[in-house]
Amino acid sequence: MLGLSLRIETLILTIAAITLAAALAFEGAMWHLDHVPYDRMMRAKADMASSEIVVVAIDQRSLQEIGSWPWSRRTHAELIERLTDAGASVIGLNIIFAESSRIDPDGDLRLAEAMRQNGHVILPASFDQSEDRGQVVEILPEPRLAKAAAGFGHVDVVPDQDGIVRSHFLKAGLGSPAWQSLPLAMLQHAKPEHGPEVSGENGHLDSASPYAWTRNHRILFGFAEPGSHNEISYVDALRGKLPEETFRGRFVLVGVTAKGLGADFITPLMSETGPMSGVGYNAHVLDSLLQDHIIRPLGSIWIAIVSAAATLIPLLLYPSLSSRWTLPVAAAAMIGVLLSSLLLLQFFSLWLRPAVPIVMIAGSYPLWSWINLRHSLRYQRSLRAAHERALVTLHSVDDAVLTTDASGAVQDLNSSATRLTGHTIETARGQAIECVLTIVDEHSRCPTTLPKPGALRPQTITRLPEPAVLVHRDGQEAHVRATAAPINDAQGATLGMVLAIADVTETRRLTEQMSYLATHDPLTGLPNRVLLEDRLRHAIDRAKRENTFLGVLFVDLDQFKTVNDGLGHSAGDALLKLVGQRLKDVLREADTVARFGGDEFVIILENITEMPSINTILKKLQAQFDRSFRIEAHELQVSCSIGVVVFPRDGDNVESILKNADTAMYRAKQLGRANAQIYTPGMEGAARDQLMWSQRLQKAIRNNELVLYYQPQVDVTDGRVKGVEALVRWNHPELGLLMPDAFVPVAESTSLIQALDDWVIREANAQLQQWRQAGLTDLRVAVNLSPRQLAQPNVGRVIANTINGFDLNAPYIELEITERTIMHDLERTIANLRELKSIGVTFAIDDFGTGYSSLSHLTSLPVDRLKIDRSFIRSVPDDAQNTAIASAIIAMGKSLGLSVVAEGVETPAQVDFLRAKGCNEAQGYLICHPMPTSVVTPMLHAATPLLPRSVQ
Ligand code: C2E
Ligand code: CA
Ligand code: CA
Repeated sequence: MLGLSLRIETLILTIAAITLAAALAFEGAMWHLDHVPYDRMMRAKADMASSEIVVVAIDQRSLQEIGSWPWSRRTHAELIERLTDAGASVIGLNIIFAESSRIDPDGDLRLAEAMRQNGHVILPASFDQSEDRGQVVEILPEPRLAKAAAGFGHVDVVPDQDGIVRSHFLKAGLGSPAWQSLPLAMLQHAKPEHGPEVSGENGHLDSASPYAWTRNHRILFGFAEPGSHNEISYVDALRGKLPEETFRGRFVLVGVTAKGLGADFITPLMSETGPMSGVGYNAHVLDSLLQDHIIRPLGSIWIAIVSAAATLIPLLLYPSLSSRWTLPVAAAAMIGVLLSSLLLLQFFSLWLRPAVPIVMIAGSYPLWSWINLRHSLRYQRSLRAAHERALVTLHSVDDAVLTTDASGAVQDLNSSATRLTGHTIETARGQAIECVLTIVDEHSRCPTTLPKPGALRPQTITRLPEPAVLVHRDGQEAHVRATAAPINDAQGATLGMVLAIADVTETRRLTEQMSYLATHDPLTGLPNRVLLEDRLRHAIDRAKRENTFLGVLFVDLDQFKTVNDGLGHSAGDALLKLVGQRLKDVLREADTVARFGGDEFVIILENITEMPSINTILKKLQAQFDRSFRIEAHELQVSCSIGVVVFPRDGDNVESILKNADTAMYRAKQLGRANAQIYTPGMEGAARDQLMWSQRLQKAIRNNELVLYYQPQVDVTDGRVKGVEALVRWNHPELGLLMPDAFVPVAESTSLIQALDDWVIREANAQLQQWRQAGLTDLRVAVNLSPRQLAQPNVGRVIANTINGFDLNAPYIELEITERTIMHDLERTIANLRELKSIGVTFAIDDFGTGYSSLSHLTSLPVDRLKIDRSFIRSVPDDAQNTAIASAIIAMGKSLGLSVVAEGVETPAQVDFLRAKGCNEAQGYLICHPMPTSVVTPMLHAATPLLPRSVQ
């Protein structure tokens, strides 16, 4: 904008300058200025005068010797005659003979005769202007003389306006410029063929009226070296004292040089020659014409053009120049114009008046400066306005802004900066930025190094390290985001820097709140699934780095649906909160409890160095569910199923770890809830398999596909049947008869075992009732009780109720329990056993010898019988060790007063052994395979010993 207006202004001024230049040039102003160099140049340029010119001077000496002026025309006639004899080429007689001589009229005749004889005499023509009326009169020689002259030449000398004679009019005359000048007429007379072209400036001194003296063809002529003209005293020429060659073939100018007689002119040679006589003037003009020393003045148009150019060029140059160069350029332009003017004069005889262009250039400089000043002022005003605007902006922006100088000392700060730092402009100005601005790293609390202005990259905004905290003078803190940018001048030098500091405390709070909401469960306040996965990912990385384990526990509440449906959602919510809290209570700070969804929680146990510590925490977690949860007025007994995964053993990424933990949890659920399972490979497949089996088995129980086989237990001494063991079979519609190994573990892994055991007890009782009604009153029926059953609370009461539902004599029902069952939860088992014992149920310890029960426990249990596991019997009597164990068990049972039954008896040798050792009963294929009632019942009624005769 500024540049454009400047250019327009320049253009306007240029046009003004050109107009002025033209005006000055045409007006011919600056005359004096122009001609000072001209005159000096003319003096320097002056050359030796041509030897062809001879001046015959009417000088002081001639006047003394010939007599005072005017002389008789006879004297002049004598001179002409002498010159005729001497062979002068042409004679310019620069003496005006306006009227016939009064003193010697015959002299005129004599002169006319001499001129006629010579034939080459040119006489002057002149004019006179009457003083009163201003009328111009032409003055020509007296008619007789005029007639004798070879021609006329005007002797009009016109000084310039400064009074100095420099120019010559080749033509002049009254009414029209009819007369050639005397020197031109002489030249044309002597050398018509070489006569100079009549040129020079056209123009009139006066209007071309018939009564006005008119001049034309102005030339500037070069002067000859002062004193170089061949000047001869009139009296010497007249008396013939000179060598003959003096005048031969020469241009002879005769005229007055004596002071006070003729007109004197001031010329550029004034300082050397003094005033110049008319004849001297004509001699110089003639010399100039002869040697072509004519100077051609260049017209006003040329001056206007040169002026315009000389003015325009610097004006056009100024805008692109630095201000200190404008003056030298102006000066150079002026000198250039002057020099070219002088060079033109010297070498091309062209006269270009330099004053106007020089004055124009000189004028253009202040003009330009004035324009520049105006622009500077305008620019300054706009700068001031911009500064004001910047200040207002600075103080109205929300960000804290501090500016420093190049050394980093504070120069300015806005109100936000005051608010954030506690410094005012008074306390801050001049201080090092580090003293005003304290920014520390949020975590390490190390002070952030503030940049030095010189170290910042120009036109680049540098961000300070984050997260950053700005510490107020009074210690208050704000989270900030700070940037620094250098202030550079146009040349790129650093002037300082700007620090902009945005207070992001509120933004951060909101961000944190938002990210908290996005990563936390609103109900329990625990991390949600998103954050869990993130933390797990980090925990995995950490564990990999530190070479530690991770425990991931998938916790699922067992009866949550019941609570939710029964007591309402608010109760469900309250329960979830309490569970979350209890889980958290047992964990360390570094561990994570997350709500995974619904009633599922996931726990990450970090920094585990050995496996048992996972078990310890697991136990603690499970213990949290021993206490009831108080929800509103209810005391709720809640259990949970837990799946445990160990990193890196059970998965190496978030997805697989969570999936496997879920599988393990599901497995725990299958195993009857209130249970924890550690993940094992293949668990998922097994779980799926089992799911299918358990669903099928459930149906089987309902559809009565199960059936009880019975295997007799006989007295080893007489082979008589003492009891039968009920062994369950599944009469599968497609697969045929399935053995318990195929489906009992499946039932055991889910709560289905309860239903199965319940069915078996009922079925066995029902069968016993039938047998008793059929007279088999001494028969004992043994039922296998699943190991997990006896650990259930109140199971004693449940079984007792079932048994009591039949009209039985209690002692004839025996429950076979394994050692593992007993040891699982000793106290609870003992309580249950006592309960059942009270209704007359007897107990046998199944698979005795394979477990890890101690004898001390055995004595405290209400047990009636020991069943030696068939793994010992199998190799009896060949294997010494097993035989010894079997012997020991029999001996121990005896000592405790317990009946001992040997399982898996298949050979008579085994029976012999048992009998020898005093074992009470035997059971095995040797005696009878497990058989359906249809087969067993007749055998029972037959009352024949079932031991083969050979071994009886
Ligand atoms: P167990 O209680 O040890 O049952 C005895 C197992 O030994 C029976 O297998 C029986 O057929 C087998 N057996 C009997 N005599 C011999 C012999 O001379 N040689 C060999 N090799 N085996 C003999 P079964 O019927 O396949 O039952 C396997 C297991 O299933 C039982 O072991 C018991 O733990 C369980 N079981 C069977 N029926 C039930 C039931 O109704 N309820 C529960 N909870 N478990 C049952
Ligand atoms: Ca058994
Ligand atoms: Ca057994």
